[in-house]
Amino acid sequence: MKNRLLSNRLQNISYSQTIAMSAKARELKNKGYDVINLSLGEPDFLPPNFVLNAAKKAIDEGYHYYTPVSGYLELREVICNKFYRDNKLKYTASQIVVSTGAKQSIINVLLSILNKNDEVIIPSPYWVSYLQMVKFCEACPVIVRTTIENDFKINAEKLKKAITSKTKLFIFNSPCNPTGSVYSYEELKELAEIFRKYPNVMILSDEIYEHISYSADKHVSIAEFSDIYDQVITLNGLSKAFSMTGWRIGYIGAPEWISKSCDKIQGQMTSCANSIAQRAAISALQSSPIEIGYMIKKFKKRRNLVLDLIKEIPGFQFNQPNGAFYIFPNVSEFFGKKLYGRIMNNSDDFSNFLLDEAKVATVSGSAFGDNKYIRISYASSEEKIIEAFNRMKKVLL
Ligand code: PMP
Ligand code: GLU
Repeated sequence: MKNRLLSNRLQNISYSQTIAMSAKARELKNKGYDVINLSLGEPDFLPPNFVLNAAKKAIDEGYHYYTPVSGYLELREVICNKFYRDNKLKYTASQIVVSTGAKQSIINVLLSILNKNDEVIIPSPYWVSYLQMVKFCEACPVIVRTTIENDFKINAEKLKKAITSKTKLFIFNSPCNPTGSVYSYEELKELAEIFRKYPNVMILSDEIYEHISYSADKHVSIAEFSDIYDQVITLNGLSKAFSMTGWRIGYIGAPEWISKSCDKIQGQMTSCANSIAQRAAISALQSSPIEIGYMIKKFKKRRNLVLDLIKEIPGFQFNQPNGAFYIFPNVSEFFGKKLYGRIMNNSDDFSNFLLDEAKVATVSGSAFGDNKYIRISYASSEEKIIEAFNRMKKVLL
């Protein structure tokens, strides 16, 4: 009724489609339908025991109060060590801000630097919230299309073409949600060469899937290229690698003028991230990545399983994902066809069809900027994945 009173800024953005699809699947489940939810990017593991124990200990030891706005110093120091250990990046504690999930880290950064009509380059397919958050800041998203033939990666030429005098920021993630693509050292070096020529363009490098990678090559952070270190905000978090989505811990390493401004925003908006989750994060990030190796192995097994199963459904065109836990097939061969009396016009139709007829929840590619694709998350058990593909096969063949 009072919608007209809502701010323009709010009316400019849409609901998160990943969260909406997952809510729809949950609703159907509550109504008694046997739905397999491959929509949300949420690992199905428990967080490691040592993390759970650290949280319990924190409660017993009395960590109940506000923490410093950017996070406990001890945690920020552990994050500095982690950045150095895993990414060869030198940050000091004053360059680190811990937030309520990587989502808050992202919005802090955007609010810190974006003015109305500033341009933000986002390669598509992109993660669902980048576009909406940029719009929320009243900045202007500049979408650069990548193609399945180029493994959904932007190259120097495309990047250069997109940069104008209004460009303020470039946002990308590797390993990539939704495509599973992983940028190599050489590919990032090529991009870094361009950024070096534009010192006023900042880069938000979302590395939340850093550890969920299946290639033998080591993860590369774009801030490793020392010429552009001062232009990069390196983003990470505990949701994916430690299966701690609900604990809400994300963090950035950034030039101090950025970390200070994120601290300023956070000090007014949320005060700090949850104290108990921060204590648990200390134990998580102090541990060796070997400790979470069992989850990565499982994800790799599931990735291989998905690659086998998807081949059995003609009409899905896909690339091999090398990281994260999604596969992103092109489903446009089904467009124009009638399935169970419904014409498939785009990936929204297709994804809704799979939910209604196969009771399998996926996310339409329109959420990620391409309505010829769907995203299938394999952060689910092998049994569920097998059953989901059986059901899809049944309604599609
Ligand atoms: N970036 C990407 C690419 C993601 O997939 C997610 C998933 N939620 C996030 C950021 C946000 O993570 P968090 O749970 O830490 O807010
Ligand atoms: N990042 C996950 C996804 O893409 C979780 C949902 C969200 O944060 O939007 O599914």
